[in-house]
Amino acid sequence: MAEHIQDHSESITTEVLIVGAGPVGLATAIELGQRGIHCLVVEQQERGGRSPRAKTANVRTLEHFRRWGIADKLREASPLPKEYKQDVIFATRLNGHVLAHFENVNYCEPCRNDLFSEHAQWIPQYAVERVLRKHIATLETVRFVFGCRLDSAEQASTHVDAVVIDLASKQQRTVRCKYLVGADGARTTIRNNVLKIPMCGDHAYDWNYTIVFRAKGLTRQITVGQAIMYWLVNADAPCICGPMDKNDLWFFMATSVDKKQSLPDDPKEVIHRSMGLDFDIEIESVEPWAVHKLIAERYHEGRIFLAGDACHLHPPTGGYGMNMGIGDAVDLGWKLAAVLRGWGGENLLASYQDERKPIHEHVINQAVENYSLLANQLIRDQLEQEGPCADRVRASLREKIVAGKKPEFYTLGVILGDGYRDSPVICYGSLTETPVLNGGIEYIPSSFPGSLAPHLWLSDGSSLYDHFGTGLTLLCTATPDATSMDRIQSLATSRNIPITVIRPDHDRLTDLYETTYTLIRPDQYIAWRGNTLGPAIERIIVKSLGF
Ligand SMILES: Cc1cc2nc3c(=O)[nH]c(=O)nc-3n(C[C@H](O)[C@H](O)[C@H](O)COP(=O)(O)OP(=O)(O)OC[C@H]3O[C@@H](n4cnc5c(N)ncnc54)[C@H](O)[C@@H]3O)c2cc1C
Repeated sequence: MAEHIQDHSESITTEVLIVGAGPVGLATAIELGQRGIHCLVVEQQERGGRSPRAKTANVRTLEHFRRWGIADKLREASPLPKEYKQDVIFATRLNGHVLAHFENVNYCEPCRNDLFSEHAQWIPQYAVERVLRKHIATLETVRFVFGCRLDSAEQASTHVDAVVIDLASKQQRTVRCKYLVGADGARTTIRNNVLKIPMCGDHAYDWNYTIVFRAKGLTRQITVGQAIMYWLVNADAPCICGPMDKNDLWFFMATSVDKKQSLPDDPKEVIHRSMGLDFDIEIESVEPWAVHKLIAERYHEGRIFLAGDACHLHPPTGGYGMNMGIGDAVDLGWKLAAVLRGWGGENLLASYQDERKPIHEHVINQAVENYSLLANQLIRDQLEQEGPCADRVRASLREKIVAGKKPEFYTLGVILGDGYRDSPVICYGSLTETPVLNGGIEYIPSSFPGSLAPHLWLSDGSSLYDHFGTGLTLLCTATPDATSMDRIQSLATSRNIPITVIRPDHDRLTDLYETTYTLIRPDQYIAWRGNTLGPAIERIIVKSLGF
């Protein structure tokens, strides 16, 4: 429930205090709240507005929304109609020459693909946040306070005491919690002032600015085709632009600008000059922003954890920031819940950094590589002229764009294929097994421990993932022996571990899941696989839960 702090007691207690109600704080609250964990989210701003940050919720984010039961709500909240083309077009102007055309970027078009349970969704970040907030309002154990800033926090061996201030009344409160999650973004108080953990890498290595504007009738004048994003390559004002919302709301992002002159004197003139079209413009906002390549040295200390932009920052090229932060929230959320309810051990919390940091490092490098090829670097002489010579210039540029940008617009190998290769809570088994290498354009499903569980659509139309439990899932391709099942059952009862055993029916199951048994975690990643259960299964379960 969103509220301002209304009770006047000196201190508030909760199990988890979440600082920041951006997408990462909200996703953490949902992962915890759906598991009945009491949490309080504090946010200093009203978090309204239309800052055009993330514009695509990727396939993996949508799979989390499906698990939370709100994938349909997210799709309904997207302002573009279903039939709108999910393409990216590179052109000289919106009515100029097309240089390259990428169709169905990041699998945003409605489809049923065995590789995933939900296609991606084009949707502005503020609309994603609205859906998350609405869902939080239905979770009884989550309390949500706006206009409230965390000022400091101190931890002891059993709890954290945080001081929060209600910005309207200036009243201070102490919040006592078991764990604190700093999902407080790039300017994080938790990392900077409470934990004092440094960021490593390049700070503000480039600058951009974004204009949000209304342009009545603009779409009718576009001759290069329908797209969710246009990269305009011309010497006048190279940019990335596209529709943002209903009623002709657009964004215009001038890339790699000189910081000193980063804001234009006349934003309307820049837009007209870049697009090559004449139309009425109403400016809503002009915002400069810096590009970083930064990662926190550590992600947690004791009972305090960092997630999202608070611990990793990189260019937006590739659309990873919000999506990767939601992945952090899921990893941390189920682990905190397991520890708080007694079915997770301390190693589980320590594994958060071991699992997430290598993924962040890989993705940051990928995003930086993508950012090194902007419209600014594609400008060529004769690009806008007619004739065979200019045609040759454009054809050669097309090859460069396709080669350089394919890894930015088709990233399933990264989104679904980047697994946990060196985690203390994954049972990797025999060293003779080799993982399938993912991490690029193509995604090859693998049942190697640490990978995302391969997906399938079952004959009744349901997703295989819909049959996984909220705790551990043991997926069997044959009927498990009764002694092993008794052993698992008694372990589950004695330690209060939620375990679901499933034996789905599908002729491709044994191809995808090569062994008879696969142990799958609440986040749909594989903790272990093998052909026999035996007494070892108890040790495997206990290890995968961090004991
Ligand atoms: C131009 C641009 C384009 C982008 N494009 C994409 C994209 O295409 N895809 C993608 O996935 N990502 C994209 N991103 C990145 C994405 O916006 C961020 O990664 C995402 O917002 C991070 O979410 P967060 O919850 O970690 O932090 P934030 O969204 O920054 O939220 C942090 C919140 O914490 C609050 N807070 C801070 N300190 C305190 C305190 N002391 N007390 C209380 N509250 C506090 C802040 O007010 C803020 O609301 C883009 C970003 C930019 C700038």
